[in-house]
Amino acid sequence: MSLDNILNHWSDFRKGAEEGGHHKYEHRWAMAINLDLCTGCNACSTACYAENNLAVVGKERFEKGQAMHWLRIERYWDQPDKEYPEQGASFLPMMCQQCGAATCEPVCPVAATYHTPDGLNAQVYNRCIGSRYCSNNCPFRVRYFNFYSYYESAWPQPMEQQLNPDLSVRDKGVMEKCTFCVQRIRTAKDKAYMEDRPVEDGEAMTACAQACPTSAIVFGDAMDENSMVSKLWKKHQVERGVYQQTKNAKKNADLRGYRIFEELNVDPSVMYLERVRENV
Ligand code: SF4
Ligand code: SF4
Repeated sequence: MSLDNILNHWSDFRKGAEEGGHHKYEHRWAMAINLDLCTGCNACSTACYAENNLAVVGKERFEKGQAMHWLRIERYWDQPDKEYPEQGASFLPMMCQQCGAATCEPVCPVAATYHTPDGLNAQVYNRCIGSRYCSNNCPFRVRYFNFYSYYESAWPQPMEQQLNPDLSVRDKGVMEKCTFCVQRIRTAKDKAYMEDRPVEDGEAMTACAQACPTSAIVFGDAMDENSMVSKLWKKHQVERGVYQQTKNAKKNADLRGYRIFEELNVDPSVMYLERVRENV
């Protein structure tokens, strides 16, 4: 593939065939996160740490911006004029948005981050040289760099026994981020393949979605029209490959779906449902 070809057809290479592009996706893994159900309990974030062998870096490194949380809970005050606790705290789980046109991918000098046939934005740890260009180019700030080797400090013996053997522990100098729990997706796909059937909705379940006590996070295959996530995207009129949604939510308060930084045209795979506030 020539450089000229890449530059001239860049957006087509990023799009799926269903959107008139060149990419033949097998699945398009996607999420719907209902902010009205999120209580900010952090169970999802904790589950992500346990599932994905994330290092707890400690307070000092956290303050220097060296945290490793693939999923962070952002907190906003909707009504700051009121007295606590009436200030209307709202919470927003923020992880890699697995963008269809991910801005982190083209800037990686060694193609350590690339697009998979599942529509995932993958990270090849062994190829990463730690340039951190991807992190600088991510509008969501959801990429995390290993400034240190955390083997001994994060998991002193015998805590290394609780590490998940389905994925590696990343070493110093390597970038990492939410993978949509790709190891779980792989297990579900392999099982379905062995049984000669498609992956069923709910079979590939991320750790955060599984742990959420209010079921605020729904995960599934957006190419499966009958999946819960597809139905939610459709119900709230949020479409892939659309630069900016044209729905008029003001006319229909039920259309609460939106994607963050939609105007950047990065085509995120995570749809959020706005929180509903009661007018009292
Ligand atoms: S587990 Fe669910 S309710 Fe708790 S912070 Fe995460 S998304 Fe929100
Ligand atoms: S999908 Fe998996 S890797 Fe991503 S935030 Fe949720 S638990 Fe973490």
